[in-house]
Amino acid sequence: MKIAFIGLGNMGGGMAANLVKAGHEVQAFDLSADALAKAAENGCTTFTAVPDAVAGVDAVVTMLPNGGIVKAVYTADVIGKAPAGALFLDCSTIDLATTREVAALAVAAGYEMVDAPVSGGIAAANGGTLTFMVGGDEAAFEKARAVLDPMAKAVIHAGEIGAGQVAKMCNNMLLAIHMIGTCEALALAEKAGLDPQKFYEISSKSTGYCWSLNDYTPAPGIGAASPADNGYAGGFASALMLKDLRLAMGGAGTAGATVPLGEHATKIYEAFVEAGNGGKDFGAIFTTL
Ligand code: NAD
Repeated sequence: MKIAFIGLGNMGGGMAANLVKAGHEVQAFDLSADALAKAAENGCTTFTAVPDAVAGVDAVVTMLPNGGIVKAVYTADVIGKAPAGALFLDCSTIDLATTREVAALAVAAGYEMVDAPVSGGIAAANGGTLTFMVGGDEAAFEKARAVLDPMAKAVIHAGEIGAGQVAKMCNNMLLAIHMIGTCEALALAEKAGLDPQKFYEISSKSTGYCWSLNDYTPAPGIGAASPADNGYAGGFASALMLKDLRLAMGGAGTAGATVPLGEHATKIYEAFVEAGNGGKDFGAIFTTL
């Protein structure tokens, strides 16, 4: 397939490279000259304007920072410029209202569109092992699967357009809550006189088990390897967790859902990021306890 890829940052760069490896012809665009140069090294054909990158393609993949940018890119330069019938896949993590609005504009102009946000960080983007949660109708999902497979460990149809973003915001709200809970339990164990490694061994096989404790233990030198063992460098930045929590709080407000722990987790990450820790892995909340 001929696929346009827009947004070749930390995530998109590796994802576009995996599409090339799978034999697709990738027409890449980013505002950053460095990102474009890297994409060229990885076998993409690079363009300096979006309408040129989307000319003649079967599908357009976007991996962009926020909803405002996604809307601007689609409305100004993709809708009406890509060939009629092309499939659009927005893999960015953005707000539900923008997802639905852009998809409605795309469908009205004769395109198919899915939202396909991802779980998994930069390593999974580079390794082709992302989990995609896809919102869109059945026919669009089946087409999307062929585009997403080379970048994926799993491609799951979540429901109608926007359902991928709902799954993503709920997943990451849950992740923030169990990460903070894991940090609190590890810190309490240690302060109350229990070796935190012993706590890990016991709780990871008891009802306290969860991904944050078992697979990403946020205390240095304890349990599973994680960015904690490397000064909280790399991993999933606290600023990105805060972005996702704010999207979840916006979604909860619109849906009329009650999310007291989600709200509290948002306040905790807000304070942590405002104190200058936005670049640290989100498990670094442990250091505040
Ligand atoms: P990033 O900032 O590294 O990359 C974004 C890229 O978009 C940059 O290269 C930037 O130059 C480009 N860009 C910005 N405006 C543009 C425009 N108008 N046209 C073309 N290119 C433009 O961000 P990232 O970490 O790659 O994240 C991308 C998306 O993936 C975000 O929505 C993020 O929430 C989501 N996400 C990130 C992670 C992660 O671990 N980094 C994990 C899951 C999901």
